[in-house]
Amino acid sequence: MKKLTDGIWTFTKLRVGRVYLVEEADGYTLIDASLPNAGKTILAEMAAAGLAQERIKRLLITHAHPDHVGAVPALVAATNVEVIVPEGERAAFDGEAAIARAPGLLKPPRTVLQGMKADRTVADGELIGTLQAIATPGHAPGHLSYWHPDKRVLFTGDVIFHTRTMRLPYKPLTVDMAMNVRSIGRLAQTVEPQMLCFGHGQPIADNATEQLQTFARKVGAI
Ligand SMILES: [Zn+2]
Repeated sequence: MKKLTDGIWTFTKLRVGRVYLVEEADGYTLIDASLPNAGKTILAEMAAAGLAQERIKRLLITHAHPDHVGAVPALVAATNVEVIVPEGERAAFDGEAAIARAPGLLKPPRTVLQGMKADRTVADGELIGTLQAIATPGHAPGHLSYWHPDKRVLFTGDVIFHTRTMRLPYKPLTVDMAMNVRSIGRLAQTVEPQMLCFGHGQPIADNATEQLQTFARKVGAI
């Protein structure tokens, strides 16, 4: 695991789909759950870092895509985690609806998630521990980003990717790109982060606010 700042870590041995751990007064909040085989790695990395898995309280999901929810069944089986899912992603998360896809020819196969059930949902503006949900629909219809106001850390989920540079999420996997761009504008106009933590790619800790603003302008979001 890598400590990003006091009380916030990320996992370093996961292949796809970044997972974060935030220390709260009553225990740990995980953000997202990577791929199905990631459960063991998440718990092993925590143990190696001296972070007790008994202290995992919550798992906050940004959106119901397979590379962000994969380890949910394994974590539920191994810990007392409460699984908290965006209101607008609950049906897809619980497997009641297929994952929403963009219209067009490059459609990925129909995907229905299986084996998971949200313990509760979270909506725009709500506080879960110290983290505040910010509605950022577009990549997925009910996508939420999470904001840590004290540490000024923004967890973007898949609204923005960071693969070498900041970029828009993959088009075939994004249900409404224009809406996603508006969500980037909302983030750029709502928060002034000290650190950007993405669903894919390395966090950004240098000039984070400026970099977010520059990217938002580049994609025409502000
Ligand atoms: Zn995604």
